[in-house]
Amino acid sequence: MAEAPLPLDPGPARVLVVEDEPKLAALLADYLHAAGHQPECVADGHAGLQAWNERRHDLVLLDLMLPGMDGLSLCRQLRAQTSVPIIILTARDDEADRLVGLELGADDYIPKTPFSPREVMARVKAVLRRSRGLQQAPVQPAPPASASPQAGLLIDEQGWRASWCGVALDLTPNEFRLLRALSAQPGRVFERPQLLDLLHGEGRAVTERAVDSHVKNLRRKLEQAGAGSEHIRSVYGVGYCYEN
Ligand code: CA
Repeated sequence: MAEAPLPLDPGPARVLVVEDEPKLAALLADYLHAAGHQPECVADGHAGLQAWNERRHDLVLLDLMLPGMDGLSLCRQLRAQTSVPIIILTARDDEADRLVGLELGADDYIPKTPFSPREVMARVKAVLRRSRGLQQAPVQPAPPASASPQAGLLIDEQGWRASWCGVALDLTPNEFRLLRALSAQPGRVFERPQLLDLLHGEGRAVTERAVDSHVKNLRRKLEQAGAGSEHIRSVYGVGYCYEN
């Protein structure tokens, strides 16, 4: 199915940079400025949480290894209250960390070695584009929606949002992509590599376990919206299937 059209340039954003290495923070701030954004740099997790609570930035660039509250803890705390886009930066290219970051709802994950500010800027732009595609959807009146009205699930393709019986599902772009694909063909079993392709928006390597992480989050969100968690069925050794 067709991707929802999104604006090519998402425009300027207020970006919170949580990074304790002064040189790296300054470099990121320079690049963000040059791209038209308004960066604010803080050097530890507690300051990051406080800054976000006070100023509600449009995006968070988050280092993992931080003094005080570490990046994963901050990511968890932010996710408990907001769907603000979060991009994790880390010196540790560790699969476990990456998966924990994705499970906590980070939108993207960039290793620092080798560090490419240009790549960070490209990811910032892509994540903003997706999140603004979500946020700019009209709330009233309800936009045309498709898929499984009898089952309570509504997918709003244009607005990149979904709801269950009128309860909004606060999905990340990757969760939306997965739910949209699965629910478009109820009963069809999708293999993990097929679902993984949906997560390849930026041409980066993502493991199949990332699919499992996103599905786990999707199930939790469906359950919280009153849908129950059984709508996305695991097919052992193959992948997943949406059932009404
Ligand atoms: Ca650090």
